[in-house]
Amino acid sequence: MAATPPHDDSTDLIIVGGGPAGCAAAVMAASVGMRSILIEADALCTKLQHIGALNNVVGGFTSGPELAAAIAKDIARTELCQAELGIRATEVVATDDQVTVILSDGRRLTAPHAVVATGVGPLPTDKAPWLTVPGDTVLPTLWGAKVADHERGPLLVLGADRPLGTFLRTHPTLEASILVAYPPADDYKIDEVRDDPRITPLPVTNLLVSADDDSQFAAQWRDRAGRNGAFGAEVAYLNLGSAPMPPAGAVTPDSTGYCPPELQHPRILTAGDLRSARFQRIMAATGSGSEAALHAYYAAQPPSS
Ligand SMILES: Cc1cc2nc3c(=O)[nH]c(=O)nc-3n(C[C@H](O)[C@H](O)[C@H](O)COP(=O)(O)OP(=O)(O)OC[C@H]3O[C@@H](n4cnc5c(N)ncnc54)[C@H](O)[C@@H]3O)c2cc1C
Repeated sequence: MAATPPHDDSTDLIIVGGGPAGCAAAVMAASVGMRSILIEADALCTKLQHIGALNNVVGGFTSGPELAAAIAKDIARTELCQAELGIRATEVVATDDQVTVILSDGRRLTAPHAVVATGVGPLPTDKAPWLTVPGDTVLPTLWGAKVADHERGPLLVLGADRPLGTFLRTHPTLEASILVAYPPADDYKIDEVRDDPRITPLPVTNLLVSADDDSQFAAQWRDRAGRNGAFGAEVAYLNLGSAPMPPAGAVTPDSTGYCPPELQHPRILTAGDLRSARFQRIMAATGSGSEAALHAYYAAQPPSS
């Protein structure tokens, strides 16, 4: 019986995270002759699958899923990039001469540099002091919501973060009434969607959500004037904002939890949304991923004489 060929784990660059930033790093690395291994916990560009309406991406893309499919094709034809999907990087270790990335299947990959572009995830409810959700109540996120256009609601949205605007643009014919409960910190965000007639803004100081056995939601709130109220909803979505998701180990956060490139070990290059709360856009992610790959390329060149 023929022996299985050994898996080739040698590479010039390890890329952790296969969103726009990580994919751009892989394409740029290949364009300068660098081999890369790209580690993605899910599928490539999963987040883009939930963006029905893009309005700030060059090249004519107005649909997140179409852009995700185009990027996945780019990676498939990038021969110097070996994409490993469905595997999580659990730890990143940096020493003077290499980076080691430990994977959820126990493998340890090493390379001269690693680009870490693991993006952001939903802010957990325990980080939203204005909101109380019992431990056994699991609420879906608004950005991942699948809502039929004939839905009437009422829908309850907890928090006024920007996915609300994307949701409204993605569902222009949805007629449901949408009650948006939000804390003072989200005041400026609700202003961006306040004119949409489907929205009922509810500025609160506290809100308690519970679900009954029929999965109906009940919310009890206190508003900024100290008044109490209650209402029921068929569906409740979390829209609290996001939190950076660095893997454990050597990736260094600042006081906000984000991981800017200038704080990192010289062999670790952070890119995309993971860097900062301020630059969370697709084109900013692809630009920073490309730059990270070029940093690794120039760092590997012999000093010019
Ligand atoms: C609802 C919504 C609407 C948006 N609309 C727009 C818009 O219109 N225009 C725009 O420019 N931007 C928009 N954005 C922002 C845009 O999606 C992000 O800026 C962009 O996806 C960031 O790319 P990234 O590669 O940094 O991170 P991500 O796209 O988040 O990719 C990170 C990847 O890393 C993977 N990962 C995480 N941890 C690990 C690990 N430990 N091991 C392996 N893999 C891991 C994740 O599975 C993920 O695929 C929107 C975002 C949301 C949520």
